[in-house]
Amino acid sequence: MGKTILITGAAGYIGSHTCVCLLQAGWHIVAIDNLCNSSARAIERITELAGRDLRFYTLDVRDYAALSKLLQQESVSAVIHFAGLKSVADSVTRPLDYFDNNVCGSVSLLRALHQQGVRKLVFSSSATVYGHPQQVPIPESAALSVTNPYGRSKLMVEQILEDLAQSDHEWRIATLRYFNPAGAHESGRLGEDPRGEPGNLMPYLAQVAVGRREYLSVFGDDYPTPDGTGVRDYIHVMDLARGHLAALERLFSHSGNFTVNLGTGQGVSVLQAVAAFERASGKAIPKRIAPRRSGDVASCYALATAAQELLGWRAEKKLAQMCSDQWRWQHQNPEGY
Ligand code: NAD
Ligand code: UDP
Repeated sequence: MGKTILITGAAGYIGSHTCVCLLQAGWHIVAIDNLCNSSARAIERITELAGRDLRFYTLDVRDYAALSKLLQQESVSAVIHFAGLKSVADSVTRPLDYFDNNVCGSVSLLRALHQQGVRKLVFSSSATVYGHPQQVPIPESAALSVTNPYGRSKLMVEQILEDLAQSDHEWRIATLRYFNPAGAHESGRLGEDPRGEPGNLMPYLAQVAVGRREYLSVFGDDYPTPDGTGVRDYIHVMDLARGHLAALERLFSHSGNFTVNLGTGQGVSVLQAVAAFERASGKAIPKRIAPRRSGDVASCYALATAAQELLGWRAEKKLAQMCSDQWRWQHQNPEGY
C-alpha cells in the first residue's frame, strides 16, 4: 500500500478494472498502453471511478529505451503485465505479430525491470495453456500444451519467467491463469470495448442484445457436454481485478513464485450463457447453430482452490451479475467508449 505499481496494458479490459481496484486500495499507479486495442478514454473513466489520479503514458512495451527511461523517472516497486494481443483467431493468421508483441514485448519489459532492479511481477497468463484439457476441473498441475500461436506465446512467456526466476532468486513472480473474463464495472462506465467483430462470447451476446449484430452463431452443439455446446468458466472482471490485488499483496509479503488459476470452478454452456443474458437484458437473443470453431475445446473450467488457499481469494460474483453488468455497460455505451 502506498507503493507505485507499473501497469502495462492499463487501458484494456482487465487492466482498466484492475487499475480502479488498486487505486481504491491505496496503491499508486504508473500506467502504460500503446492503445492498439483500447481508448485513452478508459483512463479518464478509471480516475473518475476511483476518485484518484494515475500517471498515464502512451508507450509500447517493446520500446526498451522508452521503458528504461520511464523506470528511471518513476519509482516502481512492482509490475502487473497485461499488455499483449489476445485474439486466438488473429494469432493463427498473423503469428509473428503475436510472438513479437507477447513474447518480445515481455522480454523487453523484463530486461528493463532487471536493469532497474524491479523484481516483482504479476503476469497475465491464460487457461489456454492447458490446451485440450485431459480433466475438468483443471488443476494448475495439469499437463500444458498449445492449440494456437496465442496459446504458445503465453506458454513461452510462462517458461521464460521460470528460467528468469531460476537465474535470480530475488524475483517474485505471480503467474495468473485466467479463465473467461466477463462482465463490467457495476457503474456501467467501464467495460470491454473490442475493436471490430468480437471473438468472445460475452461481448458478442451484448452486441446482439443492443442491436449491433443480428444473431449469435453457436459454434457447435455436438460436444460431449450436457447440452452439446461448449462449457467455460466465466469469471467477473471485478473478481479478476481483486485477484490481482491479492497476488500483489502476496508478492510484497512472501518470497518465491507462484502460479494459480483464476476462475470460479463452475462450468457454463453457451446455451446457459445465452439464457442468462436474455434474462439480464430482457432481450431475446436470436441464435443459429454453426459448425464448431477450429481449435475450440469442449469443456474448460478451473479447479479454483489453490488461489483460495494461497491468496485467500475466491470469485464471488455469479453469472447473472456478469450478464447484468455487461448489459449495463453495453446499453449505456452502445458504441463503446
Ligand atoms: P485488451 O486487449 O483489452 O487489453 C490489452 C491492452 O494491452 C490493450 O489496451 C492494448 O492496447 C495494450 N497493448 C497491446 N500490445 C501492447 C504493447 N506492445 N505495448 C503496450 N500496450 C499494448 O485485453 P484484456 O482482455 O484486458 O487482456 C489483458 C491480458 O490478459 C492479455 O495479456 C491477455 O492475453 C490476457 N488474457 C485475457 C483473457 C480474455 O479473455 N480477456 C483471458 C486470458 C488472458
Ligand atoms: N462461442 C460461440 N459463439 C461466439 C463466440 C463464442 O458459440 O460467437 C462459444 C465458443 O465456441 C466457446 C464459448 O462460446 O464454447 C466461449 O468462447 P470464447 O471465445 O468467449 O472463449 P474461449 O473459447 O477462448 O474460452
